[in-house]
Amino acid sequence: MFCPKCKVLMYPKENVFVCKKCGFEKKKTGSNVVVSKQKKKEVTIIEDKNKTNVLPKTRIKCPKCGHNEAFWILRQMRGSDEPESRFYTCVKCEHKWRED
Ligand SMILES: [Zn+2]
Ligand SMILES: [Zn+2]
Repeated sequence: MFCPKCKVLMYPKENVFVCKKCGFEKKKTGSNVVVSKQKKKEVTIIEDKNKTNVLPKTRIKCPKCGHNEAFWILRQMRGSDEPESRFYTCVKCEHKWRED
């Protein structure tokens, strides 16, 4: 806020701005309170309920606990010339092993 006559910086005093040079007073316009209305961002978490996270199960004996059911997955190791290997995860103890 500058004095329109002297072009000097005016000082705030209560509800006015005062020019120290000429004594000019100017009412503070409005309020300095900036109301920031922050819009609430609604984060919608899309839950993919159809996601098939369940691995296929097969009947195989777990070498660790002897349980006869395990999840299995086909995975190819190093390059395409190598045959795919079945990897098993025991349903019961989660022991993982590979079928050669
Ligand atoms: Zn002034
Ligand atoms: Zn097991």
